[in-house]
Amino acid sequence: MAPVRLGIIGCGIAARELHWPAIGQLPRKFTIPVVCNHTAPKARSFAKLVGAKEWVLDYRDVLARHDVDAVSIILPVELNAAVTRAALKAGKHVMLEKPIATNRREAAALVKTAEASPLVAMIAENFRYRPLFRKLRTFLDKGGVGTVHTVQWTTLGNLTPDNKYAHTMWRIQHKYPGGFVMDAGVHTINAMRYLFGEINSVNAHAHSVNRAIGEVDTLTMQFATERGIAGTWMSSFSCRGYSDNHLLIMGDGGTVSMRGDTIEVLPARGKPKTITGPDSWGYREEYEAFHAAIQKGTGTETPFAEGYRDFAVILAALESSEKGRPVTPH
Ligand code: NAP
Repeated sequence: MAPVRLGIIGCGIAARELHWPAIGQLPRKFTIPVVCNHTAPKARSFAKLVGAKEWVLDYRDVLARHDVDAVSIILPVELNAAVTRAALKAGKHVMLEKPIATNRREAAALVKTAEASPLVAMIAENFRYRPLFRKLRTFLDKGGVGTVHTVQWTTLGNLTPDNKYAHTMWRIQHKYPGGFVMDAGVHTINAMRYLFGEINSVNAHAHSVNRAIGEVDTLTMQFATERGIAGTWMSSFSCRGYSDNHLLIMGDGGTVSMRGDTIEVLPARGKPKTITGPDSWGYREEYEAFHAAIQKGTGTETPFAEGYRDFAVILAALESSEKGRPVTPH
């Protein structure tokens, strides 16, 4: 098959630093005829970076083109719904960055539109394509530490004003609930659901420690999954003097500890071992999945419904915090 002709809408941090390094590795799978940013300097410099012949300021000029088969939508979240609807209407396959939308109604409508369309509509949930998570899931599914009963995940850091993401005003004056906890947390939720099953109850407390970075920057959440696994997730963007990303998985046959890209298995009996292998954050792999789905006319592992479920778990956590009781994600 000829390469997919991809239009990129939004030429900001993620487009430059995450999407292009992945797409650039797949020259036989994607070409980029046009890019779009509503401010000319960013559109022009991104077009130069990726070798696109043209750049435009209005996304509708991308959607109107006959030499564009698919689009990547990498915009401030409040634009996701309108641009995605227009792209599908224009007959373009869509890769849409997360979080899927700004509210439940918009998110549900996008899922409905995507499910009624023959086009590939994929949420850019790169964690789902991360090789080490896939390896870990195979290990757990084979009973590597017996029956998993309890998990704990901590994602902690201190987002300082010099952080590049603190300079994207749509994140600071966010039009979606949950601030940074929503923006970044959907990734962790997706990995939890992938590894441990659907989350069917959450009990959470949200805090705004540093209002300069948005409305919610810290969340502790207890949860239970459909498989009867209990867990806690502690996430903070205002954890002073400490940062960590640590997943602990307890099974009746041992414990798994994952920190960064190191996975240690501590069995109840026998010697500890590590699970290793090539790893990445899954951006190239998600583009490979996008290309395969377009080529074969199939779906991907991350249809919009996946993005909806991740979004719904964090909405449930925020609702639980507000109401002071457990909530079932819906
Ligand atoms: P960003 O740097 O602000 O990029 C957004 C870009 O969209 C900016 O260049 C902005 O231009 C442009 N833009 C705004 N309104 C537009 C419009 N109406 N038409 C065309 N262009 C417009 O933000 P980002 O960090 O790249 O994030 C973008 C998306 O990627 C978000 O959904 C975010 O959650 C996601 N993301 C995902 C990951 C991941 O790991 N999967 C990581 C980071 C971000 P101006 O700046 O000139 O206004």
